[in-house]
Amino acid sequence: MKRFTYFKQWQCTTCGRKYARDEVTYLCPTCSIDYRPGMPLTGVLEAVFHYEEISRVLAQKGRQNYSLRDFCMVFSALEARDYPPLPVGNTPFYKVESLNLWIKNDALNPSASFKDRASQLMVAEAKRLGIGEIACASTGNAASSLAALCASAGIKAVIFCPENAPAAKLAQVKAHGAELHLVTGSYDDAFKAAMEYSASHECLNRNTAYHPLTIEGKKSAGLEIYHQNGCKSPDWIIIPVGDGVILAGIHKAFIDLKRSGQLVKLPRLLAVQAESSDAITSYWEKGEYQDAASPETIADSISVKTPSNAHWAVRAIKETNGAAIRVSDDEINQARLDLARKTGVFAEPSSTATLAGLYKAKESGLIRDNEQVVLLITGHGLKDIAGF
Ligand SMILES: [Zn+2]
Repeated sequence: MKRFTYFKQWQCTTCGRKYARDEVTYLCPTCSIDYRPGMPLTGVLEAVFHYEEISRVLAQKGRQNYSLRDFCMVFSALEARDYPPLPVGNTPFYKVESLNLWIKNDALNPSASFKDRASQLMVAEAKRLGIGEIACASTGNAASSLAALCASAGIKAVIFCPENAPAAKLAQVKAHGAELHLVTGSYDDAFKAAMEYSASHECLNRNTAYHPLTIEGKKSAGLEIYHQNGCKSPDWIIIPVGDGVILAGIHKAFIDLKRSGQLVKLPRLLAVQAESSDAITSYWEKGEYQDAASPETIADSISVKTPSNAHWAVRAIKETNGAAIRVSDDEINQARLDLARKTGVFAEPSSTATLAGLYKAKESGLIRDNEQVVLLITGHGLKDIAGF
């Protein structure tokens, strides 16, 4: 059997069944049999690696002696030769003394959002399989990201966005030559439309969490934080949460690091949601899943009624002894100005929800002043200038 890097197999996060690399493409066939659009996904697959081999390889010259890129490649499910030519990741990580926090600025990816990490792996997978088209539902950032990465690799991108997606993100999609379908309704409606499209076309579907490589792609940000932090976990990572896939990706990074013997302590993950788009927070609090009643927030990137990766997101919060909190649009707006004026980082509202979340968590005593806190900035402010 052909080996894919140190990748070993897929494992279902619902039932634990194991699958070979090309035995399945999206979800666990057993656990997703009753899935229908409008529900959180069940049977999401997790990539499992040959952890002992990874441990041995990293010990050979010392993990800190690997370049950031080489270190992340050790944990990749795809070969470097399949990666698209547009460089992704290796984004700045640094301390902001004035606010006593650390920033991982993923707005500095090529399409100005974190989503480039997932798009990069999906394009690599399409190249590996010889597939010429990728479809995707998006609130805007995954769309503009997929359009850019596909353009760099000569692959067709077919995008489904809600019609109220921010104009700058739609402009990016058009500029990169993707096929754009504007969907009446919300992100959840776009998700359904992309699922219907891929069911009847020869393409890969990049809907977030649906394809397990979307989670694997997002994992690289967690690996970078660890490596850039001197090969150790920070105390907290604060993550904006809509669908729960970035949260799952960061969690997966530290799970892989732990399984390969690189760390003992997982960072605590703080999920921050907009008040009206709080399905994962409610699920974590009550132990029972329920859709968000009526998501309407200025933080469009985290505006989701039915988070596709809700089950994994809650698992990530629990396993890391983390927490989930809600912030209001007013708090997000204030944090947007604070971040821009005190750090020089102009981020979109979903990203500045993390700073609003930090203020609340410090006020309640959840996070202490002597703890190392990382804010994950996922999208550039120029992508959404509403309110200015
Ligand atoms: Zn299963």
